[in-house]
Amino acid sequence: MSVESAGDGRMNLLGFERAGLEAFVAGLGSKPFRARQLMQWIYGRGESRFEAMTDLAKDFRAQLAQHAEVRAPEIVTTQRSADGTRKWLLRADATQAIEMVYIPEESRGTLCISSQVGCALDCSFCSTAQQGFNRNLTTAEIVGQVWLAARELERDFVPPPGASPGQRAITNVVLMGMGEPLANFRNVVPALRVFTDDFGFDISRRRVTLSTSGLVPQIYRLAEEVNVALAVSLHAPTDALRSELVPINRRHPIAELLEACWHYLDEQNGRSVTFEYVMLDGVNDQPAQARELVHLLKGRPAKLNLIPFNPFPGTRYRRSPLPAILRFRDELLAGGVLATIRRTRGDDIDAACGQLAGRVSDRTTVRLGNRLIGVAVQP
Ligand code: SAH
Repeated sequence: MSVESAGDGRMNLLGFERAGLEAFVAGLGSKPFRARQLMQWIYGRGESRFEAMTDLAKDFRAQLAQHAEVRAPEIVTTQRSADGTRKWLLRADATQAIEMVYIPEESRGTLCISSQVGCALDCSFCSTAQQGFNRNLTTAEIVGQVWLAARELERDFVPPPGASPGQRAITNVVLMGMGEPLANFRNVVPALRVFTDDFGFDISRRRVTLSTSGLVPQIYRLAEEVNVALAVSLHAPTDALRSELVPINRRHPIAELLEACWHYLDEQNGRSVTFEYVMLDGVNDQPAQARELVHLLKGRPAKLNLIPFNPFPGTRYRRSPLPAILRFRDELLAGGVLATIRRTRGDDIDAACGQLAGRVSDRTTVRLGNRLIGVAVQP
């Protein structure tokens, strides 16, 4: 687990899953149940000030103030879309920033968070890939995104008409922002545990979704570690095309990837894997390709989520026209494969899938004048 310290030796408690917090609290000479109390304050009530945690003993609070802190990433900018979607640019450090998006709907509120500053996987249709890779986010930075968004959103949250009683602003968390979560396995797994822990954010396991481009060995490891919903970026029915769009396919081809997915479901008693499929005009959107997908997925616990491509400056791809997307979906449905079309949200603020660019200076190839999308470039 990665734990972040403020540099003055204080531990950022957002970096601990429950077991780690219990150990930390034990180190201060307190009983494990104090960790649960602390978590209720931090995650249940969004409290960061130890002095406000009134049911903790006074000297324990003083010890915490000396040795610990609750520190979320700092907000650089907030943008609101006409459709209610919000996007935050968050500071990762002096020159780096990541993005986080909130998508409110009738019966749920989905927070899309980042797991890395940039991404190293180089998928040809993704704008994050163009930024290059800078570093992994720490557990505290991953958990801190949800903690921060919950605080920001709950301030003025009015449950929508379709909400269930007691519904909070964030009902779902998806790791579909910047980065490849399974390439940051060590820091992502404890964060997933905080999301689902009853004393953490207490979100149902089916409502926390990790999306991966297909790191096969890490899918097997994940199956041993944690139970969340799995989404996989498939994007093509054949290895030749997939290797072009998602280069990691050269190392872990489709057949191996699908085996890993079924294994994950077996281990975790999962219902199905969601396969994301970005609709690229004339590239992967032909009816014959839908039939190839049927061949791959028919009779399997799989759902296809068709994502209309979200363009960004400089891309060579175009979004498939709506009739082509509908035809593709109908072909899948006719073949007995469940398929839905993802509604594009927040595209007026460049908050849609694959448009999150943040502010990344790639460590290896520093690109001055790098295109930054939807965000002001600040020195
Ligand atoms: N690295 C992870 C999660 C981040 S992306 C993954 O690859 O799954 C979340 C989803 O958005 C992925 O399915 C990704 O392929 C898709 N995506 C990326 N760029 C896109 C774009 N320009 N338009 C639409 N979807 C895109």
